[in-house]
Amino acid sequence: METRILELFPWIDVVVRGEAEATLPLLLGALPDGERLAQVPGIFYRLPDGSIRQTAEARRITNLDRLPLPAYHRLDMAAYDAFGIVSSRGCPYGCRFCSVAPSGIERPRTAATTASSRRSGCSTRRTG
Ligand code: SF4
Repeated sequence: METRILELFPWIDVVVRGEAEATLPLLLGALPDGERLAQVPGIFYRLPDGSIRQTAEARRITNLDRLPLPAYHRLDMAAYDAFGIVSSRGCPYGCRFCSVAPSGIERPRTAATTASSRRSGCSTRRTG
């Protein structure tokens, strides 16, 4: 799929596959010269000659509690009637048609960090 995207859309230079929290900072650091793209795990990218390369798979994030909470303070939360909290990734099942299935077994955040995320989002909402 990633190779096909790069083939069909020549204005796209890089596709990040899977979870991007670890990959994106490495990608941004490698973009200025392009030479280090081969060292960024979890991407498909286009070389100057138009050929497409894939790097090694990025490691799956196993402990979601290590990820920072969303920056709710940067959003006008009063503009929203509701907001969602992603409390887990993956799924224990493997339905063939599903894009979640390849992301592996279910990995939940702990109740403490999920509640913290909710409080963080709520604290920026206007009341009354
Ligand atoms: S459709 Fe996807 S998310 Fe739903 S049970 Fe199947 S694999 Fe899991």
